[in-house]
Amino acid sequence: MTKQTTLAEIGEFGLIERITKPFTHNHKSTKYGVGDDCAVITSSKTTCTVITTDMLVEGIHFDLIYTPLKHLGYKAVVANISDIYAMNGTPSHITVSIAVSAKFSVEAIEQLYEGIHLACKTYTIDLIGGDTTSSVTGLTISITAIGTAETSAITYRNTARVNDLICVTGNLGAAYMGLQILQREKAVFTQAGAQPKLEGYEYVLQRQLKPESPKNVLESLKKANIIPTSMIDISDGLSSELFHICKQSGVGCNIYEEKLPVHEQTVEVCNEFSIEPLIPMLHGGDDYELLFTVDITNYDTISKIQDIHIIGSITQADKGLHLISKAGDHVPLKAQGWTSFAQ
Ligand code: ADP
Ligand code: MG
Repeated sequence: MTKQTTLAEIGEFGLIERITKPFTHNHKSTKYGVGDDCAVITSSKTTCTVITTDMLVEGIHFDLIYTPLKHLGYKAVVANISDIYAMNGTPSHITVSIAVSAKFSVEAIEQLYEGIHLACKTYTIDLIGGDTTSSVTGLTISITAIGTAETSAITYRNTARVNDLICVTGNLGAAYMGLQILQREKAVFTQAGAQPKLEGYEYVLQRQLKPESPKNVLESLKKANIIPTSMIDISDGLSSELFHICKQSGVGCNIYEEKLPVHEQTVEVCNEFSIEPLIPMLHGGDDYELLFTVDITNYDTISKIQDIHIIGSITQADKGLHLISKAGDHVPLKAQGWTSFAQ
């Protein structure tokens, strides 16, 4: 028998590469397939349809002990449309498929859909279908989001260029620290039956439970006539997303510790947990901020746009990926973000 490869050996991205390799495209309209935040299909002379799909599995992506179903529905939609924004697209439609076990009541599923409904209203999206099936264990939600994008303004991962500025929206690491609070309070509750203490942690909890997509930033960029040279959404941590952009663009990068944006409550919670804030800022998942590069000539304009932070610049590939610490040391970056099959 041929040797069987374990999933852990090749990892999530290795698996995707291996299983999708035999496929070629048969349609001229398929402009971009596997490998970016969305697939891109030509729909007219000047526009494309962008499509993305994501699956959330109970016990892997969420824990219903501390995740209200309404929030889960909202977050599932935001996580999906975040990939549309990452292509510089505008989300318009979603389909939602669920697999539910008998432990869920009709009212519970209605709560999930209340959250989905609220996100659809907030981001002006039409729910246009889905699928419903039973499951042996727990809840699985799969959402496909569809949007449109101007062909000339689509932002891929593989088009960053040497000397481009690296920018991020909002701030980093808050969602991860929100998760730490929820997990700590779950442990206190299950071990001692004590009521969870969540007061004072509102910001980080909100970032974990009910994230928003920074679509206003894309509007500001459009107004300023700036098209990013590359873009990705930060779902698995800044470091991991920088690896995607740099690997696919064939470049390196320098980012500066002192330039990385962080919310004061994230720092407070890090202090409480004795965690170095840089760790969740580089490797914490679920932020749903945007990471993008722009031409260096946009420096002045970009500096003035609210919620955008210039954190570094793109270098030659042979320079590698580095964090310049506050002390001036060049520390090699590691892609330690979330991966499906990590041990
Ligand atoms: P993101 O984190 O932006 O959602 P992923 O890392 O999930 O993107 O996926 C990377 C790329 O691989 C995407 O283009 C996605 O469509 C594709 N992909 C992931 N899983 C599969 C699969 N099982 N079959 C085909 N393509 C896949
Ligand atoms: Mg993405």
